[in-house]
Amino acid sequence: MATTYNDLYLDIRQQLINHGISQPSLEAREIVAYVAGKTREQFFRDARIYAPDNVVQGSFELLERRLKGEPVAYIIGEWEFMGIPLDINSNVLIPRVDSEVLANCAIEWVKSKEDCRVLDLCTGSGSLGIAIAMHTDVSHVILADISPKALAVARRNIRRHNLSSRVACVRTDVMRPASISLGQYDLIVANPPYIPSGDIANLDPSVANYEPLEALDGGDDGLEFFRSIASGYFHLLKSEAALMFECGMGQSNAVRDILLRNGYSEIETFQDTLGIERVVAGIHT
Ligand code: GLN
Repeated sequence: MATTYNDLYLDIRQQLINHGISQPSLEAREIVAYVAGKTREQFFRDARIYAPDNVVQGSFELLERRLKGEPVAYIIGEWEFMGIPLDINSNVLIPRVDSEVLANCAIEWVKSKEDCRVLDLCTGSGSLGIAIAMHTDVSHVILADISPKALAVARRNIRRHNLSSRVACVRTDVMRPASISLGQYDLIVANPPYIPSGDIANLDPSVANYEPLEALDGGDDGLEFFRSIASGYFHLLKSEAALMFECGMGQSNAVRDILLRNGYSEIETFQDTLGIERVVAGIHT
């Protein structure tokens, strides 16, 4: 029997549901639209059109890979963050919905100031810094990472969104104190690796087996990057500037202490939609 794009989408979605995958509608749509070579808008527009056999077959082949654990973002080479499509590959973490809390805090901060300079540490694909640049008129955003392969992805995303006049990349190792040649900032954001080393083996296999370990492993207690950034980047913050961290479930009190011990004040935490304290922010007074 002939299959419409919508039938195909529903079939794929049902299989994803049967396998307990958490965003079945989104993933099914991404798989079918990618194989059909359609944008999301074209996919919705063409939902009632019959799908060619090669699209049906191709979609089930990708479904097979997904069900073996490979994340859809790596299969299709793209993922959306804050409504922005980004190039993604296995050298960078897939942007999480969780990180929208930090993105929104940062965007609000930038909008409340005039002409901010922003530094995004452990940037990976560039998702946070690029979201800040696209959702504000900020004139100066630096995306920093230790991984040249991650920076190559971040650079592609800067070009993809025509941000070269406002956003640039730099290679930095945040486990060492920052050189003052990096400049002075009104806002530093970071979503560093924060999974305790001993917990890596317990992550979902589609994370542990596919995503870059160096973007996840936060050392013995998961807090090493927070300590190093809080102390080693303090002197890059202008007076009244903010440092904002994303942290993992149950880490916010420890991160708050790290900020206090390093001389930050006005510490605030922000929750995600599940009520988990996801962002800890402090001010350099
Ligand atoms: N939130 C990510 C996860 O749970 C971890 C991100 C990070 O370590 N920065 O997989």
